[in-house]
Amino acid sequence: MTDLPKVRAALAAWYERWKRDLPWRRTRDPYRIWVSEIMLQQTRVAAVIPYYDRFLERYPNLDALAAAEEQELLGMWAGLGYYSRARNLQAAAKEMVRLGGFPREYAAIRALPGVGEYTAAAVGSIAFGLPHAVVDGNVIRVMARFLAEGGEISSGVTKNRLRDAAEEFLDREAPSRHNQAVMELGATVCTPRDPECGRCPLSEWCEGRARGLARELPLKKGKTVIRRVERSLLVVMRNGNLLLWQRPPDAAILSGFWELPEPHQLLKAKFGAALHEFKHSITNHIYHFQVFEASVGRWSPEVESGLRWVRVERLADIPLSTTTRKALAGMAQLRLFA
Ligand code: SF4
Repeated sequence: MTDLPKVRAALAAWYERWKRDLPWRRTRDPYRIWVSEIMLQQTRVAAVIPYYDRFLERYPNLDALAAAEEQELLGMWAGLGYYSRARNLQAAAKEMVRLGGFPREYAAIRALPGVGEYTAAAVGSIAFGLPHAVVDGNVIRVMARFLAEGGEISSGVTKNRLRDAAEEFLDREAPSRHNQAVMELGATVCTPRDPECGRCPLSEWCEGRARGLARELPLKKGKTVIRRVERSLLVVMRNGNLLLWQRPPDAAILSGFWELPEPHQLLKAKFGAALHEFKHSITNHIYHFQVFEASVGRWSPEVESGLRWVRVERLADIPLSTTTRKALAGMAQLRLFA
């Protein structure tokens, strides 16, 4: 990963500006953070909030939870589901009371009943600043898209690669903020179905976005990646001629066909209005073309760039590529070639 300090800084700034105000973000108390993380296992944030407040009012600390009557405890949990979480919470509270308080080391937190790697990393980093990256479904998705990871997500090798990447990405100076920021990004911006790359702090460096793969990743088993590619075509007219280029005889595809130029072929051209747009699919690529009017002034692109002026009346007599025909057909509808 390149530019890591810059990427981390952009993520941190975004988080400070846009983070949701959630009750467990207003405390550094490990007990409260731990309760929130256990409740958030398999349960949505909105569903947890009322339970969290009520639970902490009734059991404000480890001693109160350890001494709770089991039936009452399960009653407080009723509706949240996965009741083994409540039983594990109490077993862990009893263990911590016996140990003399909340452990401050990762291994000891991880050893508590009901605490897996994810929860240990979350509690350890948020409450004590321990440098362990959280890795859950949200984080895996963000990392897979950020790196354009092409491996199937069900594979252990792929998961380990993304886990290592999350560790490398971790801001060791501020693991609490960093972990919460990645999770927040996955929950609110880089969401499973509809990643909003336009408002994502990572977009400048995100390979998945750059390759048009954000929606397709992470790759599920048996799924083919559909690549979305943005392209532009230029319509340059002069005295009844249209500027085109011909694919060379040894081109791998469409040899000898004529096409509208793209911006990189006409660096001195001036762009005008967008005329129209269309999509064109080839196997697992969806190309999104935008067609622009452009002018070249007195410059002679046919000399420097190997393009040719072709009389508009001759267009029907030469082989035009499908995309160029689609572009010109769209323009005929606009009556430019009527
Ligand atoms: S740019 Fe898009 S795909 Fe990449 S991390 Fe951000 S939201 Fe996800």
